[in-house]
Amino acid sequence: MPIAALLLFAPSLYGQERMRCFFDDFARQYGQMNVEPSTHGVQPFHTEKSIVLRSTHKVIPVYVHIVYRTDDQNLSDSLLALLFLKANQELAFHRRGHRGIPPIFYPYIETPSIELCPYERQSDGRVALRIRRKKTTIKAIGDVHNGRIFYDSLGGSDAVDPTHYLNIWITEMDDYALGYSSFPDMAGASNDGIILNIDYLRRNGPMTYKARTLIHELGHYLGLCHLAGCRTASCDDDDGIEDTPNSDMHYAWSSCPTAPQISCGSEDMFMNYLSLAPDSCILFFTKGQVERMHRTLTTVRTSLARSHCPTPITSEPPWQDIQLVYNPFQQQLWLQLPHGFDRPITCVVYGTDGRLIARMYLTAQTSLLSVPVALAPGWYVLYFIDEGQTRSKMFFVPPN
Ligand SMILES: [Zn+2]
Repeated sequence: MPIAALLLFAPSLYGQERMRCFFDDFARQYGQMNVEPSTHGVQPFHTEKSIVLRSTHKVIPVYVHIVYRTDDQNLSDSLLALLFLKANQELAFHRRGHRGIPPIFYPYIETPSIELCPYERQSDGRVALRIRRKKTTIKAIGDVHNGRIFYDSLGGSDAVDPTHYLNIWITEMDDYALGYSSFPDMAGASNDGIILNIDYLRRNGPMTYKARTLIHELGHYLGLCHLAGCRTASCDDDDGIEDTPNSDMHYAWSSCPTAPQISCGSEDMFMNYLSLAPDSCILFFTKGQVERMHRTLTTVRTSLARSHCPTPITSEPPWQDIQLVYNPFQQQLWLQLPHGFDRPITCVVYGTDGRLIARMYLTAQTSLLSVPVALAPGWYVLYFIDEGQTRSKMFFVPPN
């Protein structure tokens, strides 16, 4: 479906959330997208072949390209490590009975048994990210219709051995796109891989949600189409997977749709990773989708799969070393951040009586938090909420 047509029933496209994925544009421009048709509708799913295919844990070696235009787009190693950590946690999570998934879909949920591995062991024994960083002068070089991101000579970054690595370009693109991906019929080409919006990844918000954009694109890379169809978003076309209901809706909305949503005569699975719904509401693959991904890894992309990923040694930032000073004239908290702290987190200030005073975002580039209310003399607690973990630090505001 053309994007213009999509706009007709996606009135909130330019709201808080953005159009997730330009896979349809990219894969159609460079590939054939030959997908076997399926029968429509949710079907019982139990074949011996699929059980065998899914039982093997697959490790996909990843090569990361950071192609940045401004220095603050040059994402840190630890932010990237967090992206892959969260993506792998999602890919390994047995998500059944989760809020946001209608019970009728529970029997179709499958854990992918796929792991992304951006690490390699170096000659000195150290485990490091497999990464190339390159500065470019070209604005929105990752835009789906630009194409220069894939070539050094055009300001981008050449793919590294795309038959043996999943190349992931993280770069600037038009603000309304979160990413796109190649399809398996582009395997080994110079533009074979996944492209992610660098500004989306560095912006505030849980990395768990951002990792789902990567997982959505991984689905395309391993042979999955959008649920609404491989060619057109209509009831006459589907995604070629037996156990995803036929749908003619993308759900590229600004907030999570409310179940049930009906199209093509059945309840839509908009909470599937291959929906275009916001990151916060896409939660699972089906058995049929997982079978398709594993089949791609044992056929067209068989040279990718490995069995082991070296584990990096990560250390927590020394939270206890954070220094805090409150400036009553500016109503600002000054923080001396520990070395190694470089990702956005939520900060919440409470009084010692448990009263919520302020909630703020702290980014790696900022060491000043503006507190929206004047703090009276006394003790306070500042909570750091970082990817599900909470730590605290007390501070004292002296009398004037
Ligand atoms: Zn997509």
